[in-house]
Amino acid sequence: MTRRKKVWLGIFSALLLAVVVLFNLWQSAIERNRQVPVGPFRIAGNLYYVGTTNVTSFLITGPNGHVLIDGAYPETAPMIKESIAKLGYSISDVKILLNSHAHADHAGGLAELKEASGAELWASEGDADIIEAGGRGDASFGPIRYLQFFGFGTFPPVKVDNRFNDGDTIRLGTLELVGHVTAGHTPGCTSWSFPVQVGDSTLLAVSIGSLTIPPFASLVKPESYPGIRQDYERSFEQLRALPADIFLASHTSWFQLQRKMQLMKGAEDSVSFFIDPDGYHKFINREEEDFKAALQKQQSEE
Ligand SMILES: [Zn+2]
Repeated sequence: MTRRKKVWLGIFSALLLAVVVLFNLWQSAIERNRQVPVGPFRIAGNLYYVGTTNVTSFLITGPNGHVLIDGAYPETAPMIKESIAKLGYSISDVKILLNSHAHADHAGGLAELKEASGAELWASEGDADIIEAGGRGDASFGPIRYLQFFGFGTFPPVKVDNRFNDGDTIRLGTLELVGHVTAGHTPGCTSWSFPVQVGDSTLLAVSIGSLTIPPFASLVKPESYPGIRQDYERSFEQLRALPADIFLASHTSWFQLQRKMQLMKGAEDSVSFFIDPDGYHKFINREEEDFKAALQKQQSEE
């Protein structure tokens, strides 16, 4: 290739990257403004939905205080507080805050929720530093992580009180939640499993952190972070091995919350709509197919 052609190719690549980045920023701005609370409502037993139409938050109540999974966007935190109050619970009784992963749409509201509740924040070893840095240093964005200097993908930093490893159980009185580090999407992306008592039966709820591949993430050398590919592969297996009854996730569309809410209108109870092991496995399979396709594409371009 001539020098002139190389220069033009460089200019073209830079322009293309700029267009893609601007499109992503525009998309995320739209998504932030699209946050609308739904419910709140009881999913089953002591498990409540307190999130929005897009990003989820779950409240698990107990006699010794409550656990809240995910803080959504910074702009969503007041909606979550309102949803908890609407259910008749007090934000000051939330004693533990958990997170699915250190991205602005799930960790963004944690600072405000921690301030309001005084709760302890638990985070995985892999994501804790990123949460404390407000999203800065997050390798999952690949080359566009340098845009974090301009605030891209960042959120209010928040202190992590306790760090956990894969398989650790977080306890609050009688409540027990297991943190499954299903990494790849972020280095410490976490799926949560916990029992929910419904009548005489104990159901296992599983909330999937994320299995998607962030734009520009590299699964081949140089990897976004060392071991990302193996992390994804392990995550699919780990989640498949969990005997999930109630299927939840960090985004509503993944477990079809809106559709399930439509179906449950006028119904006596909501739990039967959320018992969905089939949907759970289908989602994992679909995400694995996407992962394999992305890996193959990146390998062919190596
Ligand atoms: Zn994410």
